[in-house]
Amino acid sequence: TSVPTAALRRVLTYLRILEDLEAQERELGEPGSVSSSELAQRAGVTPFQVRKDLAYFGRFGKRGMGYSVPLLRRELQHALGLQRSSNVVIVGMGRLGQAIANYPGLGEEPFQCVGLFDVDPALLGREVRGLTIQPIGALPEFVARQARAASRVDLGILTVPAEQAQEAAELLVRSGVRGILNFTPVVIQLQGLLGDSGEAEEGPGVVVENVDFLAGMKRLAFYLLSPPPEGADLE
Ligand code: NAD
Repeated sequence: TSVPTAALRRVLTYLRILEDLEAQERELGEPGSVSSSELAQRAGVTPFQVRKDLAYFGRFGKRGMGYSVPLLRRELQHALGLQRSSNVVIVGMGRLGQAIANYPGLGEEPFQCVGLFDVDPALLGREVRGLTIQPIGALPEFVARQARAASRVDLGILTVPAEQAQEAAELLVRSGVRGILNFTPVVIQLQGLLGDSGEAEEGPGVVVENVDFLAGMKRLAFYLLSPPPEGADLE
């Protein structure tokens, strides 16, 4: 069954709440439990929504018993594939790429930045948070070497100028990277590259997720003109 994106977003919120609860409880020294109403209240949704969202990922807890915080946290992490760290490369080390590389959250579980790539001779060889910026031409060999060392590169962050986005995305895919977080305003087309099997929208086994904060600002501007209904999911 495919999981609706909105449910996935909410479950990631529940997971973050569980992580916070677990950290607090560790301080108090007692592993606690949480009810779906408490989780719902903290996430700003209804208890029914929590139970429905969780059901996409498996069966958790016993009816009426609440959930064990550490257990539900662990089970959700597994269901989401977040129990193991994913290796990430950044392609395009300009303003945005450098800001992302410098973000501490990329150095801790479950994401580990392992490679930085660019074309600008002024940037090549420069160090950012302990990693040297490499020429983009070295990407395929880098990814292959990582795979041989059982440290596969799973994800690529795409922060090149729009004009280079399609080509750079293709290089990532040809190198074996299966997930692309695309910050460029370009709609990446990967079908042709991966054959006509049509299994997934972006080709078999490759997923593109677009991030665009300007689009978020535009949605906000529209909502100022025409307010969304109370409680609407703005995602
Ligand atoms: P920038 O010009 O500062 O950086 C781009 C970098 O990519 C440069 O260092 C350039 O040398 C490098 N580059 C060019 N071709 C390359 C290639 N083939 N392979 C590897 N590196 C290559 O740009 P920026 O301000 O960091 O923006 C980067 C991208 O992110 C742009 O497409 C921009 O539109 C987009 N952006 C998106 C958001 C968002 O919310 N999604 C926000 C800001 C910028």
